[in-house]
Amino acid sequence: MAHMVPYPSSAFVFPYRSPTVPLPFPYHSPTIPLPYTARFSLFGLRFAFFSYFCILILNLRDMTDQQYREEILRLKQEKNAVILGHYYQRHEIQALSDHVGDSLALAQRAQEATADIIVFCGVHFMAETAKILNPQRKVLLPDMEASCSLAESCQGPDFAAFKAQHPDHMVISYINCSADIKALSDLICTSGNAEKLVRSLPEDQKIIFAPDRNLGGYINRVTGRNMLLWDGVCTVHDAMQAEGILKIKATHPDAPVIAHPECNPALLAVADFIGSTKAMLNYIEKSDSRKIIVATETGILYEMRRLRPDIEFLTLRDDKSCACDDCTYMKLNTLEKLYLCLRDEQPEILMTPDMIEAAKRPIVRMLDMSKQLGIIK
Ligand code: SF4
Repeated sequence: MAHMVPYPSSAFVFPYRSPTVPLPFPYHSPTIPLPYTARFSLFGLRFAFFSYFCILILNLRDMTDQQYREEILRLKQEKNAVILGHYYQRHEIQALSDHVGDSLALAQRAQEATADIIVFCGVHFMAETAKILNPQRKVLLPDMEASCSLAESCQGPDFAAFKAQHPDHMVISYINCSADIKALSDLICTSGNAEKLVRSLPEDQKIIFAPDRNLGGYINRVTGRNMLLWDGVCTVHDAMQAEGILKIKATHPDAPVIAHPECNPALLAVADFIGSTKAMLNYIEKSDSRKIIVATETGILYEMRRLRPDIEFLTLRDDKSCACDDCTYMKLNTLEKLYLCLRDEQPEILMTPDMIEAAKRPIVRMLDMSKQLGIIK
């Protein structure tokens, strides 16, 4: 029987005979024409993959938040990973993080990390910073689409051309920028240390400040400097309007307004206190007020309520005029994505050694100057 084969039998072979079907795996019978075997095998493989993904999707959909939490904690231990979470992350992610903090605190935690894997629950430039400071570690970001409007507003080639027009200026960049911009900078700052770093520089030092014109403008006003500002904004903080804050204030006249310096100048003008995320937390910890109006991203309310459950925190949502105080980039990270990221060890932040070296120099300078100025230990 010239055409007798153990498997597949000729009854299951497709009538169509392709002249060019490649072999998907090594098995084939020498006793039947090669394309029939290959065709059947491809069908089987596709069916198997389809079934596998259906089962996977159904399994994921069936996992409860509690199961995600348990799996994340198990994988974290099994893989010797550390989870760094920004204050603007979803509350359930902050609750699972080993360290929760603002950009500066998390940059320090990333530098000190000894775990094999750093899972950065924040946005892309933050995970990039963690990689720059700890290049030998694997750095993961649960959602690679988690970008930042400030980082997007300042692209490397445009900024390099701007810098070239002002060769006598030193470049200070807010940490909310891409590695390309960091590599073009002399010094990095955060909203927590920007004022002190700028004050520590000689009065006649000409400075370009990028990419946030609101933070740069605020530093110009409080220090009396005249830094040249790149025209970028955080779309979340810039969209918050003073009118909405004043309406809340009219109903709650005893509530002080605290605002992040990324907010627009009109809003900052009606604030009783302006400070970084960490400074705002310090403020509410010591406050005697029963109510506080908060003008920054809403993720911070988790930490504020944890620190001061006795205070009522009011936001622009209470005015119902704006739901703009949520950063959609920050909220892209979810429990499910965090679980998948730990399980699959991707998406991973990958950078060339040259880029790491160039972007690291101004960050290390910031950390060194911050220690000298007593901002950090
Ligand atoms: S809140 Fe603003 S600065 Fe922060 S990540 Fe979102 S867009 Fe960027």
